Amino acid sequence: MQISLYNSLSRRIEPFTPLKENLVRIYSCGPTVYNFAHIGNMRAFLFADLLQRAMRFVGNYDVKWVMNITDIDDKTIRDSKLGSSAWLPEMGEQTEDPKENLRNFTTYYEQKFYEDIRSLGVNTDHFYANPRATDFIWQMQNLIKKIYDNGYAYISGGSVYFNVSKWAQADTYGRLKKIDWENFQQGSRVDADTYEREDASDFVLWKEQKEGEPIWEFELDGKSLPGRPGWHLECSTMEYEILELPFDIHTGGVDLKFPHHEDEIAQSKAGYGIDPNPFWCHNEFLEVEGKKMSKSLGNFFTIRDLVAKGLDTRDIRLAMLSAHYSTKYNFTFDGVESARKARLKVQDYIYKLFELSESDNIEVPDEKLPANQVFSELANDLHSPKALARLFEFINEFPANKLSEQSKKNVINDLERINGIFAVWEISAKPEEEIIIPSEIIELAEQRKVAKANKDYAAADALRKQIAELGYNVLDKKDSYDIIPINK
Ligand code: AMP
Ligand code: ZN
Repeated sequence: MQISLYNSLSRRIEPFTPLKENLVRIYSCGPTVYNFAHIGNMRAFLFADLLQRAMRFVGNYDVKWVMNITDIDDKTIRDSKLGSSAWLPEMGEQTEDPKENLRNFTTYYEQKFYEDIRSLGVNTDHFYANPRATDFIWQMQNLIKKIYDNGYAYISGGSVYFNVSKWAQADTYGRLKKIDWENFQQGSRVDADTYEREDASDFVLWKEQKEGEPIWEFELDGKSLPGRPGWHLECSTMEYEILELPFDIHTGGVDLKFPHHEDEIAQSKAGYGIDPNPFWCHNEFLEVEGKKMSKSLGNFFTIRDLVAKGLDTRDIRLAMLSAHYSTKYNFTFDGVESARKARLKVQDYIYKLFELSESDNIEVPDEKLPANQVFSELANDLHSPKALARLFEFINEFPANKLSEQSKKNVINDLERINGIFAVWEISAKPEEEIIIPSEIIELAEQRKVAKANKDYAAADALRKQIAELGYNVLDKKDSYDIIPINK
């Protein structure tokens, strides 16, 4: 099926075709692994997952999906430093080597990140690679050399910067965001990895060493510049090394459009001479109960926080997918509860399809089968809420227990395809419920066993009666007993 996507570059919905035959190459900006990812980050990752699943199952493409791990930036360095209060015993012993500390610290959160996204239904086997920035240092240095040799970088102190004004004269700077050149201050520079500022300025490609930080040797233009890479450079390098340029689609949250993604384009063009990718897709932000998520407002959640509150991760996934990625998503507990009801309604429907029943032999015409309708909504800029609406319309129109056996099989087949995208349902018959006998009943049954062994049959009978009043039967066996719930 032909897929169309909103492209942040052209600012309109465009039909998508891969650059290389049937292969779709996607690069998603991944987590900075200095803490547990929050549910806002999760929205960005679930959006990328929706996109790559749609490419596989709606578009029938082969997919190479890369999500990087930002393991070196201001925050990972700060929190992994010797003596940092963010260090946890599970990360091992800290050492005198800042690189080793950084690796142990970030490896811990990288593993937590995989656990979290798996719990949200991301199949990590779908990743082609999860490159860590620190494994690509010399390749990053090569890119800096290319940019420098082409005349778009300069050395200042022990750092290297990208010369934005010079680049803007040679090419376009401001593809994803209009730049206010009137107020542009030539030579104003940004070193920090967190970009609050809106204005264009020269950005750092390589940062001068600081005491106690992990550093790599680097020589540029005969100068020794020990230090570490800037954040934007990391993504440009890993895309080139793993997916080759140009690849098809780059994803990230809207906050990354500028300057992170704008700077990626500038670096790739100024260094490799190639426009990195024709499609840029950005998800809007998640808010909590109508407010920006923040620790001070007490509305800052990780997936683990929500699981601790008793929420089911499948419901969180479905809740997030029930809003279109390009609109702000207001996370509420009521929203997750509604998603739960919706999920269970479909699940119940699926169980019924597997039951043998006296059916009314209703046939579902091919054109009414749900997968094609659901997929055509997804093909239109990944409209997951409309896709879910189509699914519910189908379920309401064709009750499971009224369908012919052949139609049941067809619908099961379609729901399997749909679940390739949503990944929150079990496509199977209802599992036998596990019977859990409460401990107080077991306690009474044990007392009865003792009474019987002591030939105190009056006490044994009284206990049997007491157990029956609580809803259970005791069936005596040779040396033991079974407890069976009454009416089951
Ligand atoms: P970070 O780990 O901060 O580099 O962010 C990882 C991803 O999460 C990026 O694509 C961000 O744009 C995205 N992101 C961060 N906060 C939110 C939010 N509140 N809602 C949606 N996406 C977000
Ligand atoms: Zn990135």
